Amino acid sequence: FEDRKNSFGPNIEIESEWRPFQSKIDAFMGQDTQWRGYPIVGGKPVHTGHTHSVKSPYNHEETAGQLDWADQATVTQAIDLAEAAYPTWSARPASERADCLEKMADLMEENYPELMALCHREAGKTIQDSIDEVREAADFCRYYAQQARSHFTTPATYTDFLGEEKNVLLNGRGVFTCISPWNFPLAIFTGQVVAALVMGNTVIAKPAEQTSLIAIRAVEMLHKAGVPGDVLHLLPGDGASVGAPITSDKRIAGVAFTGSTGTAQLINRTLASRGVAPVPVIAETGGQNAMLIDSTSLPEQVVRDAVRSAFASAGQRCSALRVMFVQSDVADRIIPMIKGAMDEQSVGLPALHSTDVGPVIDQKAQKMLLDHIEYMTKEGKLIAQSTLPAFADKGTFVPPTAFEIASIDQLTDEKFGPILHVVRYKAKDLDKIIDTINNSGFGLTMGVHSRNETTCAHIAQRARVGNLYINRDQVGAVVGVQPFGGQGLSGTGPKAGGPHYLQRFATEQYF
Ligand code: GLU
Repeated sequence: FEDRKNSFGPNIEIESEWRPFQSKIDAFMGQDTQWRGYPIVGGKPVHTGHTHSVKSPYNHEETAGQLDWADQATVTQAIDLAEAAYPTWSARPASERADCLEKMADLMEENYPELMALCHREAGKTIQDSIDEVREAADFCRYYAQQARSHFTTPATYTDFLGEEKNVLLNGRGVFTCISPWNFPLAIFTGQVVAALVMGNTVIAKPAEQTSLIAIRAVEMLHKAGVPGDVLHLLPGDGASVGAPITSDKRIAGVAFTGSTGTAQLINRTLASRGVAPVPVIAETGGQNAMLIDSTSLPEQVVRDAVRSAFASAGQRCSALRVMFVQSDVADRIIPMIKGAMDEQSVGLPALHSTDVGPVIDQKAQKMLLDHIEYMTKEGKLIAQSTLPAFADKGTFVPPTAFEIASIDQLTDEKFGPILHVVRYKAKDLDKIIDTINNSGFGLTMGVHSRNETTCAHIAQRARVGNLYINRDQVGAVVGVQPFGGQGLSGTGPKAGGPHYLQRFATEQYF
């Protein structure tokens, strides 16, 4: 594997490639490997004494390590240092900052096995999801580095509308807060942080409390990659102890956030109540994502793409399919095939090659999902439920489950897990269905399965979503290929991994 630097990660289907790689991961999988994490301020770990154990989602008797949460003094110190470091960091050429990102991508690839083991043990991610996680994190670094180099070397010159030569100077905004989720604990964490950094901001990062250990490793690597200690600080903790002070401080010049719509609204209120100049909030939030399947679709392809979209990553993706609309003419053919595919799905330990679906993140998520399954058992009609392994009660597993329901109106909020709802529709009602989906207020992903190009074009025109996927699955947006992000309740844009993302982290000055 060492010979394949900058590759796409190991191919788990090729035995000779996968086995040696797996033994490197195994070296980090035993209980004797325990990570010990602290807030990182000024490039140094801070021992606060507020210590928490990090349990593995697939077995709560196992831990991945221990972690100190930040306290108030640590938060204040981090913001003080970040503010003081801003003028020097933002004055450095963008190309030097881009160098750090590229070095970071190399470091993550060199540490693939450890980072994958952390994905398994801290986040419960499967092998393929863990490979994709590291891959995406490295892609964000290289993509934003390339963008910064080609568009944002300072100052850039251009010829204006009247033929005059002009300069545009993009510069950082100041101290940026980055708040990231547990479902992409390395990729989204890294993507937000490096975007802010490469544009010249200094950064206060708060990872999700469930997955801070991998974020700590990422920050250590970023410092090793050349980001100065006083430019990037990591503050593990919960919303009350860390999230609140790093959004209420008057010195915060912008926030990048991925998580729930409710928390994004809270962040906006907190920032507004500071009584200082408004600052950008770059939010990527939830979805109530649908797939529309018409009678011209190919059933085998529909089933493959729907099952992956709904159940990969245990449904814990913002992009995941929640409601599948099947044209009634083909529903009796497709629904039994969904059941067949779900019967084959293997739920199990994340680090096993045979596992398709791992655990959900924690007990709170598990309870919410099991309650929803109980509710739907009364309100809908069970289509299928994948079997749980014998050891499931040791961790937080939820059986992938599909229900047929009468209408999307039976769903209130997003259920972030492996539960699929299927609704039959008549061809004449297609527009009504699209409007109902739009009216949910969310607009993140949508899938379409149809061989009729006019239908595809019509849906694309009428739907209000960030990412529309035609005749394929609707998860796994690739950096620089499918810029990712939604509209309405699903987020503010700009899209992560897209050409307009970096500008939002910067001010523009023309002269
Ligand atoms: N970008 C991811 C995907 O396309 C989803 C990100 C998220 O869940 O926040 O599947």
